[in-house]
Amino acid sequence: MNKEQNENLEVKTDNEIFKCPGCGSNMFYDPDHETLSCDYCGSQIAIDGQTNVNELDLFTASDDDNSWEAETKVVHCDNCGANTVVDINDIARVCPFCGSPSVGSSDERAGMKPTSVVPFKVSRDEALNKYTSWIKRKTYVPKTVKNELPNPIFNGIYLPTWTYDANTISSYKGRFGEHYVTTVGSGKNRRTVTRTRYYYVNGTISRTYDDILISGSTRLEQKRLDKISPFNTNVSKEYDKRYLAGFSAEHYTINVRSGWDTAKKRIEEDIRSSIIRKYRPDVVSYLHIKTHYENITYKYVLVPLWLCTYKYNNKEYGFMVNGENGKITGKYPISIPKVLLTIAIFIIIIVVALIIYGLISENNQMYQLLK
Ligand SMILES: [Zn+2]
Ligand SMILES: [Zn+2]
Repeated sequence: MNKEQNENLEVKTDNEIFKCPGCGSNMFYDPDHETLSCDYCGSQIAIDGQTNVNELDLFTASDDDNSWEAETKVVHCDNCGANTVVDINDIARVCPFCGSPSVGSSDERAGMKPTSVVPFKVSRDEALNKYTSWIKRKTYVPKTVKNELPNPIFNGIYLPTWTYDANTISSYKGRFGEHYVTTVGSGKNRRTVTRTRYYYVNGTISRTYDDILISGSTRLEQKRLDKISPFNTNVSKEYDKRYLAGFSAEHYTINVRSGWDTAKKRIEEDIRSSIIRKYRPDVVSYLHIKTHYENITYKYVLVPLWLCTYKYNNKEYGFMVNGENGKITGKYPISIPKVLLTIAIFIIIIVVALIIYGLISENNQMYQLLK
């Protein structure tokens, strides 16, 4: 390859749209090959993404950090209220959450630049295949939905998440109880009763936490994030905007400190249950824990999700597919006739069984009488 060709292959990053060196079309991130690809001429450009090993100190995090602003802007959807981070040069767009074209500029600032990205590995087609085989196994879903999704809005979105690491040392004091059975009273009043024997505990426990994943979006509650997890955040790539080409990224609405508050609650629950697991008491009358935290670090990680919403009988349903491993969760409509049919069959089986039973016992009675 000569020098000229080499230069041609360089991705132009002066604007956010990556032009194909072969034909000049726009290139997009391609989950199948983990490259930038041109749909038009098939050119591919490898992204030599480095694994991100940098953890940032939580105490140096600033709420005024707007480092992502140089290359992105935030747009707001008037229909559903979603704030999406898009390329600074991006113009025409529909809302990735609701499909509405009423997306306009917003005063919201882009905030912190992500430290890392878990790139999409599941393509759009694969995500749809996951859906098809998932929905096939659901008995009561109406046939029309099984055969074809009614006007789906289907988009690949990077969701903002925070991951936290911390070392903890906790000292604790508590009063636990253990049940035992004893016999009391005498004569007629003699009986067994359950009583509780109490004992005191104290000690220290140290635990290390790695990459606790907390949602940075109020649109994706923690519970739903837990359901669609895991994401392999420990081998996430250093942030590179090429991974976002052709995808949307949601703006975080939960900042790094509020995220830490949630992570801390999780850590505290975990410490509490590890202490309780150690003693296995029947009753906890009290347990006081004081935890000292060290080396609290965080990462701002974009995780990939395929989101789909559709309407059926005027109600909204949706599902999401983990863009890294294909895990799927969601809500789906239930066909009332199908449910009623099952109940009817069930009732018929019971009625028939009762009739047969009745006949048998009648026969038995006759037999007894004749004997
Ligand atoms: Zn091309
Ligand atoms: Zn919207």
